[in-house]
Amino acid sequence: MKIPIKKSKNISRRDFVQTGIQGTTLLGISPIAVPFKTFSPDKKTRTVYGACYHDCPDTCSWKITLEENKITHFAASTSNPYTAGKLCNKMNNFPKDVTFHPDRILTPLKRTGNKGEGTFEKVSWEEALRDIGNHLRKTLAESGGTAILPFGYAGTEGLVQNDAMSGRFFARLGASKLGRTICGDTAYAGVASVNGNALGVLPEDLVHSRYIILWGTNPVLTTPHLVPYIQKAKDRGAKIVLIDPYRSASVDLADWHIQPRPGTDVVLALSMMHVLFQEDLVDQDYITRYTYGAEQLRKHVEKVSPEYAEVITGISSADIVRLTREYAQTKPSAIRALIGMEKSANGASIFRAITMLPSLTGAWRMLGGGLSHFTFELFDDALNWERLTVSNDIGSADRRTINMVEIGKALTNKSLDPKIEVLFIYNSNPAVIAPNQNLVTEGLKREDLFTVVIEHFLTDTARYADYIFPATTQLEHWDLMVSWGQCYINLNQPAITPLGEAKPNSEFFRLLAKEMSFEEDYFAESDLKIIEKTLDSKHAYLKGITFKYLEKHGWARLKLPTPWLPFANGNFKTDSGKCEFYSESLLKEGKPPMPEYQVPNKSNGDQSRFPLQLLSIKSTAHFLNTSHANVEHLRKSEGALKVEISVDDARVRHLDNGDKVKVFNQRGEIIARTFISENIKDGMVIIPQGYWSSLVEGGSTANALTNDKLSDMGGGSALQDTWVQVEKIT
Ligand code: SF4
Repeated sequence: MKIPIKKSKNISRRDFVQTGIQGTTLLGISPIAVPFKTFSPDKKTRTVYGACYHDCPDTCSWKITLEENKITHFAASTSNPYTAGKLCNKMNNFPKDVTFHPDRILTPLKRTGNKGEGTFEKVSWEEALRDIGNHLRKTLAESGGTAILPFGYAGTEGLVQNDAMSGRFFARLGASKLGRTICGDTAYAGVASVNGNALGVLPEDLVHSRYIILWGTNPVLTTPHLVPYIQKAKDRGAKIVLIDPYRSASVDLADWHIQPRPGTDVVLALSMMHVLFQEDLVDQDYITRYTYGAEQLRKHVEKVSPEYAEVITGISSADIVRLTREYAQTKPSAIRALIGMEKSANGASIFRAITMLPSLTGAWRMLGGGLSHFTFELFDDALNWERLTVSNDIGSADRRTINMVEIGKALTNKSLDPKIEVLFIYNSNPAVIAPNQNLVTEGLKREDLFTVVIEHFLTDTARYADYIFPATTQLEHWDLMVSWGQCYINLNQPAITPLGEAKPNSEFFRLLAKEMSFEEDYFAESDLKIIEKTLDSKHAYLKGITFKYLEKHGWARLKLPTPWLPFANGNFKTDSGKCEFYSESLLKEGKPPMPEYQVPNKSNGDQSRFPLQLLSIKSTAHFLNTSHANVEHLRKSEGALKVEISVDDARVRHLDNGDKVKVFNQRGEIIARTFISENIKDGMVIIPQGYWSSLVEGGSTANALTNDKLSDMGGGSALQDTWVQVEKIT
């Protein structure tokens, strides 16, 4: 998930005059000197603090020890109580696996072969930037700025290297905007349509819960640092319920596993509401004071009896009633949800329905009661985003937006006017992470598309580049790290000088701005200056958390009020100020005012030709999205690309464990090995996300099969509404 950035208000350009520590040297093209403010260069031993850059809610803090400028120890912070001395197995060996990996790209490269072939020659920064500048000037003159598209996501979640300088550059160009909605936006849209924001139970406060529903989330794998808090609650007597179509690694944490059919959670939640109303398990006082539309909701769910829901969800009516009673009567009760369920045509509706449950039962009144979801809005409030983004005030506000979920369509759409002629890709690997993979690569292959990629490795996407630029890793640049899953802020300090000719993303865009003769002061702002200004908000959550403090300690927990009870007395952030069971504003937009269930894919006949629903999920233990999938020892640990299939579905196809199969539909085909398991019900298969197409047999991965349709709200992807067939390759 990408941390959404607040739209900034009007700021005077004079605010950006100051040239920072890097700014004095950065406008030259020679390799930059990263300022090591944190140590004296003549000291033999020094310590540097930083944090993981991955798109992961845990945002772990780390500590690096160097002797004579060589890294001698890289480890998780033991002082940060959330990180608690542990990185995950993806990151334990980060310096060797990424920064010092022998395959790392360390000079600019220019394409010499066909697109996709992966043949390049070394070029100088000067030559490459000049050529790109020429392309940009020609495109601006002939087609206008919107023929240029940036494509970046959360390959690094650091606020500076993610988009601080690139955002300014593309705004100044008047380029098309990228709708960065592929992950989290649908979930957020659903939750915020009810509560006005997605804040709720803080991760640490789950220890106070006595009943925790892990709804569509797999904390053991995707938020490992949350697990000790859930375990502590369990040790203190809490019951843990896992609701997930997949018997994930988190099943061992749970006392009860409920397996609905994928995408039907909205029906399960509506049916729970039916039982709450029918058995008078609601908190009428809370509803009267703090909610809107309860009577409409009561009528809306009358028809969603547990018996009706059983047919759709596959959960017995008795279990639905039992779950509802336990949830309502055990206090405090919490629902923990994250993102996974959003990726369907029902995505936002699921989150809307789930979000209503704690307000119906009044769970918000108690510490450890309510919904535990995203935390990024705490940082949204705390930081000075106006100083970070600037780009919202540059150029035209109504630039065209291309949804990143539909990048394949956008690159191949002949009637798009103007068509995309120049594509900049950084912090992302769309040839693998975007749905409808074959359409995406068809677009990337276009000879009339000029593609620039900023990367560490020759990824599947970088193979299609006209130029590749070497990016620094987290050990080589400054950044400010916030989190979407916990409450700690980190300063990432560079431990070493950038290897080879690698430069931070921010520096790439400063240099390109210079090539374009963009002389605005905001391009001269250094990374350190951006960080210092972003921290300078005077917000109470940042009391005492200054640049100097973070430089000394590395991390800090936001100074949040205690106890943290955001909706104990209402105070919802909706227009009405109430929890909205019924949404007048969605009705005005032509959307259902209350959550509804849509039967997926009924219209296109997918289910008759391709009877198995594909869930392409984050189930790899050694990759983070597509990062690390090229690291040999991690790839070996993960094993070959597998398709997980139920015992009965395997039997009717005469499949044994480990058989080589093709998984296919109308969009593509992949080759995988079968893993016959009881983790899933009949009618669905699981293929993990993350593998690189260029490193698997057959040259395609899960997204060759997924569709690029959008979910019901928020512009996210409905990629789990994908249907496939599996056949043995003989
Ligand atoms: S990927 Fe997540 S769990 Fe692993 S080290 Fe990074 S932040 Fe921590």
